[in-house]
Amino acid sequence: MSIREELRCLAEEAQRAISQSSSLQELNEARVKFLGRKGQLTAILKSLGKLPLSERPTVGYLANEIRETLEESIVSREKELKKELLQKKLEAEKVDITLPGKRPCVGRKHLLTQVIEEIIRIFMGLGYSVVEGPEVELDYYNFEALNTPPDHPARSLQATLYVKTAHEPKSSREEVLLRTHTSPVQIRVMERMKPPLYVVSPGRTYRRDVADPTHSPMFHQVEGFAVDKRITFGDLKGTLEVFAREMFGKDRKVRLRPHFFPFTEPSAEVDVSCIVCDGRGCRICKYSGWLEILGAGMIDPNVFNVVGYDPEKVTGFAFGMGVERIAMLKYGVNDIRLFFENDLRFLGQF
Ligand SMILES: [Zn+2]
Repeated sequence: MSIREELRCLAEEAQRAISQSSSLQELNEARVKFLGRKGQLTAILKSLGKLPLSERPTVGYLANEIRETLEESIVSREKELKKELLQKKLEAEKVDITLPGKRPCVGRKHLLTQVIEEIIRIFMGLGYSVVEGPEVELDYYNFEALNTPPDHPARSLQATLYVKTAHEPKSSREEVLLRTHTSPVQIRVMERMKPPLYVVSPGRTYRRDVADPTHSPMFHQVEGFAVDKRITFGDLKGTLEVFAREMFGKDRKVRLRPHFFPFTEPSAEVDVSCIVCDGRGCRICKYSGWLEILGAGMIDPNVFNVVGYDPEKVTGFAFGMGVERIAMLKYGVNDIRLFFENDLRFLGQF
């Protein structure tokens, strides 16, 4: 075999090795085998000296051409292999977005929030607006302006939590307390605004009570009141009937029993026909067929005088309900403390 033929065979063999190499490592092995210092092409170039002088330049030229071609082939194969490698890596690391994910726990509103929102929704449907007032309140708004002066016996009915102030309070406008009911919002609204007023006011209230199944030192009320021309006791009863039916079901009946509150006259406690036994008598209603749900009455003229309304020109009614009591009746909760223990086994049921 002549040296030219040998070169051509080598070139073909090398070209095949390069194009068939399936990894960078194999490609490098081919490069070493053919083009390395101890490689086959190098060996042939070294043997050029044995050729006749006349053949040396052409064979040398051919050998160099083959070297250059092979080097170019190696570079382009290297690019291909790197590209394939990247492709494989991307395939391997691909995220399968069709796999089901971990479902996050969806939170929900506390039962008391749900009940407050439901009460508000019912009264907003009747044209009422929502106003909130401060939980840390002055004696004046909590008691005195609501026709409950300091020596009034009704004060002893509500064990009040007082707030210690820097100076000894000299009047009911300096005495600070945690509001015992949401009724002070009535005064604050009437001081600022003129009738007609149709307002509900939800919020926290506080009393010095020891927690037991039916008492909590902190609880929620929704206060409601309407002041307008010619508002009557019949309007109050009709409003509460609408509320009771929306809240507890369309067959509910409402009963008003005479009662006493300092800031309404006449006053009543309001019962709804038992939602468990439908009035026949059961353990829940203590076999009376009725459940007490709120207190209400016609706003006392003394209260109107305090805020500068003329009791000859306007009348109004007010009512207040315990949110926990409504929630306990509607959802069959038998211990008020469950609302505040943050036990998800309880809260998660609603
Ligand atoms: Zn009953």
